[in-house]
Amino acid sequence: MRRKRVWLAVGLGLALAFFAFFPRLREVFGEAAPVFAVFWLAPLGWMLGPRLGALLGLLTAVPLYLEGHPWTDLLTLLPAAALVAVTAGWIERRTRIHAFRERALRFLGHVGLQAANAAHAEELLEGALAAAVEAGGYLLAMVWERTPQGFRPLVWKLGVPGYDLAPLGDGKLAIVHHGKVVRAFDLDRLDWAKTGAGQALSAGRSVVIPDVRRIPRYAFAEAAQLLGYRSVVAVAIKSGDRVRGALAVAAPEPSPLATEESELLEEVGVLLGSALERLELKERLRAQAITDELTGLLNRRGLFEWGQAVLDAAARRQVRVALLYLDLNRFKQINDALGHAVGDRVLVEAARRLRQATRSRDLLARYGGDEFVVLLEGSGEVALKVAHRVQRTLAEPITIGEETYRLSASVGIALFPSDGENIAELLRKADIAMYQAKKQGEAVVFFEPKSDQAVKGRAALERALVRAIEERAIRPYYQPILDRASGEVLMVEALARWQVSPATFVPLAEEVGLAFELDRLILEQVVADLAEWREAGLKLSASVNLAPPSLNHGDLLPLLRDLLIAYEIPPSRLVIEVTESAFLEPRGEAALERLHRLGVRLAVDDFGTGYSSIERVRTLPLSFLKVPRIFIQRVDTSKTDAAIASGIRMLAAELGFEAIAEGVETAAQAARLAELGYRYLQGFFIAAAMPKAEIPAWVEKHARRTSGKQA
Ligand code: C2E
Ligand code: CA
Ligand code: CA
Repeated sequence: MRRKRVWLAVGLGLALAFFAFFPRLREVFGEAAPVFAVFWLAPLGWMLGPRLGALLGLLTAVPLYLEGHPWTDLLTLLPAAALVAVTAGWIERRTRIHAFRERALRFLGHVGLQAANAAHAEELLEGALAAAVEAGGYLLAMVWERTPQGFRPLVWKLGVPGYDLAPLGDGKLAIVHHGKVVRAFDLDRLDWAKTGAGQALSAGRSVVIPDVRRIPRYAFAEAAQLLGYRSVVAVAIKSGDRVRGALAVAAPEPSPLATEESELLEEVGVLLGSALERLELKERLRAQAITDELTGLLNRRGLFEWGQAVLDAAARRQVRVALLYLDLNRFKQINDALGHAVGDRVLVEAARRLRQATRSRDLLARYGGDEFVVLLEGSGEVALKVAHRVQRTLAEPITIGEETYRLSASVGIALFPSDGENIAELLRKADIAMYQAKKQGEAVVFFEPKSDQAVKGRAALERALVRAIEERAIRPYYQPILDRASGEVLMVEALARWQVSPATFVPLAEEVGLAFELDRLILEQVVADLAEWREAGLKLSASVNLAPPSLNHGDLLPLLRDLLIAYEIPPSRLVIEVTESAFLEPRGEAALERLHRLGVRLAVDDFGTGYSSIERVRTLPLSFLKVPRIFIQRVDTSKTDAAIASGIRMLAAELGFEAIAEGVETAAQAARLAELGYRYLQGFFIAAAMPKAEIPAWVEKHARRTSGKQA
């Protein structure tokens, strides 16, 4: 507006100058002076627009008329004025086209930048709208989408100071001025065919409304008046053939170029469409990357990303956060015994119950196999309450097939900010507390600094174990098994030895998927040692423990066959010990059958502590039942335990198996076991496990001792 006034002043100034200098012009140009005047005035017309230009053209005639010039008849004057007007109009139009195109180009350029840089869809759309208003100079830019309820605005940006839009719910959209609703539209009752966005959405292409005032009953006429816009361009935002929405921009002037601007803006639509698609894909991939496929909870990475955000927010608001580290108890057994499909179902169910027991804003993650993490805002007390609620929910019976289980979890808790400032630190400490809980048989344990030293990082142990297996640094030691019938030791059990107890590293190896590698390592050494002893004149058998995953490993049978052939060891010299969980599933039974056919003998380890039924054991091709220490340690003092030990021994005899009593520590126990008919004894009372080099001497000495006793 201001610019126009300046030009008007300049124009009038020039016109006055023209009057003042006209006599001089006459002197110089003679009769042709008026022609010159037209050229003088043409640029003025350009500046002032066709109407003022024509007026000036007519004004040119005034001095001529005053001096009675022959050209002053109307016939010559009108074409002159018309010429000025047309030239002016044409030039003005070109200028406006130029301005509109410039604007569209600037807008396009900015959207291009946004499309390249935006991290997610909202950012892209907001950026594009800001570009429309700030760089493009549009008064209003908004994106509409078609929802099941009808056409709805998705995002918008206004370039009119003080004004904004606000959806009012149930399909109403309001224009707000300084926070006050000045006009509301019922979106469900608008004639969408009369709006740019509506047409673009329906037709999937761009639509130009050069001047909203020329459209009878334009649906947003009142909006146009309030906000002061005249023209609208709406473009379809498309990915391929799919119309995702429509971008509508409104300019203060009527649009001089229907096609060109719309073509340019159509580019914007295409750009936005493909960028949105790319971002959506990226978001989907990202979501996949941070969620656990099985349970839909966050995964490790998701926990770190979101968890840190929770901690940052909590730090700003000075609230406390608790991290609960849950480990399902006995999950491994269920998984080993019933297979992964069942294990997965248990995990999904556990996740569902975890959701049920926590608030929706708490963060839930599956951290690994059967480990879950809950991150919640609140004090230790709150965390304890949640932990107990989780325990209660988990404990509700879960039926799988015909069996019913009750889940439980060991929970370790670490608190922010006292125990750690970041997720990694909190996780580490809650993990330590969780192990403490497992060790002490407690449901929930809070992290205490003193337990930190005790568990010197499971991760470090994991790494050391992987290296130890690679470097074959894990050795079998051998524990003699006494045969009371002959008084001789004809069998030894191989027990893996390393820096830490096998009770720690065997489960760890299973967790990290190295169970078979470990068992292979032991088997190879045991068979080689059997061959060595044979060379030394010893006729020994050895029993080897197999982890459940090894039993079903495809390489187990070829490995055994190759080893036995290579070292020329009769298969019956090898006993394979498996736990009850290993043969609970059909696959396990089949594996035992194959081992049996190979000729190796089979033992059930820790008999009576697993889930197996006598019925199941009856049908298996077993040689030994190993009776665990818990049934043996009070055999000489408790009538019940003696009855159990006796019962198992008789059962074994009934089924054609031998019973081996494990963990025999005292002479009294050995004597009682002899009374109960036990033939095989194993335990510290006989000997602890020893390196292979000590076995020949020990066996020889023992044979001398017993034969001496007998003599
Ligand atoms: P297990 O098969 O029940 O082995 C018997 C455990 O009882 C051994 O512990 C043994 O040293 C211990 N023991 C023997 N006599 C006595 C006694 O009189 N009193 C007491 N208190 N304990 C006695 P170890 O060597 O710590 O092994 C623990 C478990 O680790 C084993 O239990 C077995 O399940 C597993 N394991 C050991 N070596 C291997 C292996 O090479 N492969 C696999 N997969 N597992 C192994
Ligand atoms: Ca064993
Ligand atoms: Ca055992």
